Amino acid sequence: MKLVFLGPPGAGKGTQAEKICQEMSIPHISTGDMLRSAIASATPTGLRAKAFVETGALVPDEVLIDMVRDRLNEADCANGYLLDGFPRTVHQAQALDEIKAPDMVVDMEVEDEHLLSRLTGRRVCRACQGTFHISTLKDENVCPSCGGELYRRKDDAPETIQNRLNVYHTQTAPLIDFYRRAGKLAPVNGEGTPEEVTAAILRALRG
Ligand SMILES: [Zn+2]
Repeated sequence: MKLVFLGPPGAGKGTQAEKICQEMSIPHISTGDMLRSAIASATPTGLRAKAFVETGALVPDEVLIDMVRDRLNEADCANGYLLDGFPRTVHQAQALDEIKAPDMVVDMEVEDEHLLSRLTGRRVCRACQGTFHISTLKDENVCPSCGGELYRRKDDAPETIQNRLNVYHTQTAPLIDFYRRAGKLAPVNGEGTPEEVTAAILRALRG
């Protein structure tokens, strides 16, 4: 099974991707992780990407496409793949169709207001770096595991989160349209417990 995974920040996409990969015996290919490790080990792609990442610019499509092509031609992808973080544009999606076209595209749907409450309610411990959600805390300033001080990361401020969600929707809308027209889109309700969401994804995939 060849899969593309789409989902907004905070939807639990990484967790779901891991479960689906185990279930389907396919590799989880996160282009974000690949870029970070290519840069760290200074591969040719890593060196090309590094200059862009360091200046805060977007890594050009051609660099990403070459990286994904190389990765999908590795032996462990013979059985399929789950792509996470790619494609992000219709141009990238068209390139992917020429490399190894996906069979299905899972789109995890979660309401913005739920993502906002999940993400803005996140607290991190200054002492042990543990991550918690205020819904599970007795005192939202005190770490339940070490007693350290909890704080909200700048990235989790409501304005920042809403901005990230807006960027996500703007960027993803044409992609969703592209895959819907290709008859490959599998919208999945991303609300509910992680187990419920995994079950919903598997149902959609096994159709
Ligand atoms: Zn702590």
